[in-house]
Amino acid sequence: MVVLMGGLEPQTDAKEVGMKCGISCGMAGWYTERHPKLDPVATMTDGVFVAGVCQGPKDIPASVAQGAAAAARVQGMITKGEVMIEPIVASIDEEECSGCRICNNMCPYNAIEFDDVKEVSRVNSALCKGCGTCVAACPAGAITGAHFNNEQIFAEIDGILWDAKPKEELQNAN
Ligand code: SF4
Ligand code: SF4
Repeated sequence: MVVLMGGLEPQTDAKEVGMKCGISCGMAGWYTERHPKLDPVATMTDGVFVAGVCQGPKDIPASVAQGAAAAARVQGMITKGEVMIEPIVASIDEEECSGCRICNNMCPYNAIEFDDVKEVSRVNSALCKGCGTCVAACPAGAITGAHFNNEQIFAEIDGILWDAKPKEELQNAN
C-alpha cells in the first residue's frame, strides 16, 4: 500500500516564538522536548510544555494524548500552590555592573533583564537555571553563581589538591 500525503514543515515563525518562550528547535525546525522518552511534553524551560505537531509530524490521537499530558502537568504545578526553583542561580552585583549588556542576549533561558532606569542588568532567579554562561561572559566580573563564587571554587580546588601538597606545607597549615 502506498500512502501519499503532503510534507509537513514547521511554521515560519517557530524559531521566533521559541525564543520568546525559551524553547529550542531541532535541526528541522520543530520544537524539542526535554527528553523524548522520560519527559516528552516538558521543555528545557520550566512551565513551558509542547504538544502536537509543533514538535514534529504526528497523528491526532498522539497529539490529543500529548495535550492531555501537558495539561495534567500544568494542573499539577498549579494545585501544588508553590513552585520549587533551582538553588544554584546567578546574581548580579549592581555596583559592579557597567551596563555593557553583553550578558543580556547570552542567557539560553531569557533570565536576564536590563533595567533602563538604573542601567544595570538583573537576573530573574525564577527563570535562571544556573548554567553559568553569563558568569563566564561578564567582563566586569559582576555576576556570581550561588554556591560557586571564586572563594568557594578555590577552596574546593585546595581540598582536591590537599593530598598532593608537600608534607612541610601541610605541617605549616596545621
Ligand atoms: S555583562 Fe556584566 S557588566 Fe555587562 S551588563 Fe551584564 S552584568 Fe553588567
Ligand atoms: S546562569 Fe545561565 S540561566 Fe542563569 S542567568 Fe546566567 S546564563 Fe541565564
